[in-house]
This record gives sequence, C-alpha cells and structure tokens, in this order.
Amino acid sequence: MIPIEEIYSDPRIKENLNACINCGVCTAICPASDYYDYEPRYVIKILLSKDENELEQLLSSDYIWYCGQCMSCKARCPRENAPGVAISALRYWSQKLGLFVKSKMGRNQIIIKQTIGQNIYDLGYCVHPSKVTREAHPEQGPVWEWIFNNREKAYSLVNVNIDREGPGPVRKISDKVMNEIHSILNGTGAVDFWDQIETSVNEYKNYHKNE
Ligand code: SF4
Ligand code: SF4
Repeated sequence: MIPIEEIYSDPRIKENLNACINCGVCTAICPASDYYDYEPRYVIKILLSKDENELEQLLSSDYIWYCGQCMSCKARCPRENAPGVAISALRYWSQKLGLFVKSKMGRNQIIIKQTIGQNIYDLGYCVHPSKVTREAHPEQGPVWEWIFNNREKAYSLVNVNIDREGPGPVRKISDKVMNEIHSILNGTGAVDFWDQIETSVNEYKNYHKNE
C-alpha cells in the first residue's frame, strides 16, 4: 500500500494534473524520449488514472529515472502541466517509500548521494576538481590526470584561486558559509534522506548478494 492521498497532496503533483489532452507535445520535445522508450505523457496518464497499482509500479521502475529534468515540457504543455516537475516529486516518493531500490536506475541514486551530495556537504560545491579522481572518472584522460596531480599550479596559470580565501570559482568556502550549508542540509532533513537512501541500497545489496 502506498500513501496515495499524501502523494496526490504533493503540490508538485497536484499542480500538474490538469486534464491532459494527449497531444504528445511533451513527448515530442523531450530529449530523453530520443534515448529511451520513454514518454512523459505516459507519466501524466498514470497519475491522472489514480490507479494505485500502476502508480506503485511506476515508482518501482526505471521509468521515472529516464527524465533529464530539463523542463522543456514545462513551457510547452497547452494544459500547463509540467511532467518534469511531477516526475521530480515521483522520484522523491520512490525514495521516501524505499521503492527506488527495485529499479537499477533508482539504486544509482546512491552514487549521486555519495558524490554530489557529499561534495556539497564537505566542500560547498556539487563538483570540485579535488573530487574528480582518475579512478572514478577514467574518461577524463591523461591530461586531466596531470591537472589533478598539479592542480595548484595548473589553476594558478589561469588565475583560479583554488581552495584559497578570496573571490573566484573553486575558492575555499568560508567556515561561516559551510556552517550555514550544514544547518540547511541537517535542518531540512536532507542528510537523513541521504542516509535513508544509503541504508536502503545497502540492505538491498546484502539481501541479493548471493544472486
Ligand atoms: S523535464 Fe524530463 S520529461 Fe520533461 S522534457 Fe525534460 S527530460 Fe523530458
Ligand atoms: S503536453 Fe500536456 S496535454 Fe499534451 S500530452 Fe503532454 S501533459 Fe498532456
């Protein structure tokens, strides 16, 4: 049983359920539809049907993770629906209810948590050169490896103040701001949510380790 009333009270869902005229404009404009067997129109259709079983299947599937969150659909729907926003809410509910572990793409959320989430918590940046290791990102190639190993010198050549006080990109984020970031991430429940994602994925892996 999923908390259907709570899900439909989520404003990101509630505000995007104007009667769909099935025009397909959202699917036509959607870049993810070029790569996957995927239609944002289908997501809105399931939501409008209020079929609990179909909704639970959707929350447990890869389908909601195909969207690239570009919001091209938001500006074009003649009914002013934003499938991308509704999908963002469905991802939240999938994680909140632990259903995301049933999907391979859903389980990949642990990577987002361990990289982008952890980077923000540790350094105040989503992506920071010191975290883009060659082991984790072999696609970066040998030039990047040199930059990574000599980053102070490499960044100073282009006047980038890496990890130092003062202005500019990749500067050191002050302790005051880092404390604010930690307060926000702890106070809003984001850290607990991340921990929940990690626990759910680890439990899934333990349960399936002999398969
Ligand atoms: S937000 Fe998602 S569903 Fe909408 S157009 Fe972009 S990729 Fe497609
Ligand atoms: S663009 Fe809007 S009305 Fe058209 S199919 Fe998509 S959700 Fe429905």
